[in-house]
Amino acid sequence: MSSKKIQKILIANRGEIAIRVMRTAKEMGIKTVAIYSDADIQAPHVAYADEAVHVGPPASSESYLNTARIIDACKELNVDAIHPGYGFLSENAGFAKLVEENNITFIGPSTHAIEVMGDKLAAKNAVADYDIPMVPGVNHAVTEVNEAKEIAGKIGYPVLIKASAGGGGKGMRVVEHAEELADQMQRAMSEAQSAFGDPAVFVEKYIGSPRHIEIQVLGDQHGNILYLFERECSIQRRHQKVIEEAPSAILTPEKRKAMGEAAVDVARACGYYGAGTVEFIMDENLDFFFLEMNTRLQVEHPVTEEITGIDLVKEQIHIAEGKALDIKQEELKIKGHSMEIRVYAENPRENFLPDTGTLSTYLPPQGPGVRVDDGYQQGMEIPIYYDPMISKLITHGENREQARLRMLRAIEEYQISGVNTTLDFCDFALRHDAFISGDFDTKFVNKYFSPEKLNNHDPEKEEFAMALAAHVFNQRSNGKPVNDGQQLSKWKLRAKQ
Ligand code: ADP
Repeated sequence: MSSKKIQKILIANRGEIAIRVMRTAKEMGIKTVAIYSDADIQAPHVAYADEAVHVGPPASSESYLNTARIIDACKELNVDAIHPGYGFLSENAGFAKLVEENNITFIGPSTHAIEVMGDKLAAKNAVADYDIPMVPGVNHAVTEVNEAKEIAGKIGYPVLIKASAGGGGKGMRVVEHAEELADQMQRAMSEAQSAFGDPAVFVEKYIGSPRHIEIQVLGDQHGNILYLFERECSIQRRHQKVIEEAPSAILTPEKRKAMGEAAVDVARACGYYGAGTVEFIMDENLDFFFLEMNTRLQVEHPVTEEITGIDLVKEQIHIAEGKALDIKQEELKIKGHSMEIRVYAENPRENFLPDTGTLSTYLPPQGPGVRVDDGYQQGMEIPIYYDPMISKLITHGENREQARLRMLRAIEEYQISGVNTTLDFCDFALRHDAFISGDFDTKFVNKYFSPEKLNNHDPEKEEFAMALAAHVFNQRSNGKPVNDGQQLSKWKLRAKQ
């Protein structure tokens, strides 16, 4: 257990999350070190840091995952702690171990917790002693089709075949009928082998219309664990989240407490410290089942920060320094409502196919209750090598409706050209009756969305697009830069009068 004040953090990541971590470090008087690949020489996270180290060519396997180079950089620059962000090395137990062996503090949980929770089957087994509700199914790897058939017969179709080492929705197959089982199992196993180097799969009941609701936990190195309420993450495409909010529109205080306490038990089962997330799915009867635990900061952590007023990165750093949590469960209160949309370079008209290109216009929204966590600037290219997320747009309001209206306003202000994005899809989703009423599940996209839904004419938007073109033209003729967000916002307000 470490107990010294951290002086300098290397952020083993890129883009928005690297900047997000550096912002808090700066506020805490901690020096920051960025790492970057050849593809990110011009990236804002590099300019933002106090120091920056080049770690290799664009491919992440040779740069952001180059553990030896990262450790060397820490030694060269007297770094005393590493923050892994999310993705890349954040859930790599071997890396966490290597960091500790080099007397560097890993800002995250113990190697043991990462190992146990990194494997869905090991996680299910670890929590078996606690009274955590689980999706009906088996807790062991299944390799024989006959055994899988027997299990599926018992729990009833449809079933879900899942990769034990799974993540990012990979290695998951829904099986509706016994005849498809052999084929789908083969596919899931080979997908798991190629994505994770581990073909182990298991079988569980496929919940028809679930909601994905997760609980943020915080634990210190003294055995204190808190839950910071839930995040609703049911608006997904390809089993991956695209809109999140906190709190969930459907949880009662009793259900919230029950889920929170179950999440604390999951964390306790692996001796968890740091910030972590316990994911559950919920069926139509509001019964919830443990899915998995993510042993890191989540992409969607800002909505929790907005409703609790707690800086999760600051807590992570304090915990890594060995400090005890100075908040009590009873003191935590939900303040208002927060929503986040993920702005991906993707084409919702082409089944959310990732897009690349240059951000020829990039003007993020501003104003009350709006937070943009991004890692891009106008003129930058979206590299093909990494996750295509451009930014996270977060709003906070006194209640759900205010947060939603603010999000619609912010989406309208957001100007991006040069690549396709999920902005117009999010606009569609947030205006949909099912979203407004809170009556939706993870099937939202399949049930309600089709590309033609985006082609509706919106006279107000068209008028704005024309006005924007005129503005850019005028600015150019005056020899002024066109990327002054502030000027544009004021100008836009005027144009609307
Ligand atoms: P990954 O680690 O690949 O993200 P998860 O276990 O977290 O996988 O599941 C991702 C998503 O898949 C969930 O949010 C949910 O939408 C869906 N899902 C997972 N398990 C089930 C299940 N048993 N029934 C129905 N949907 C499920």
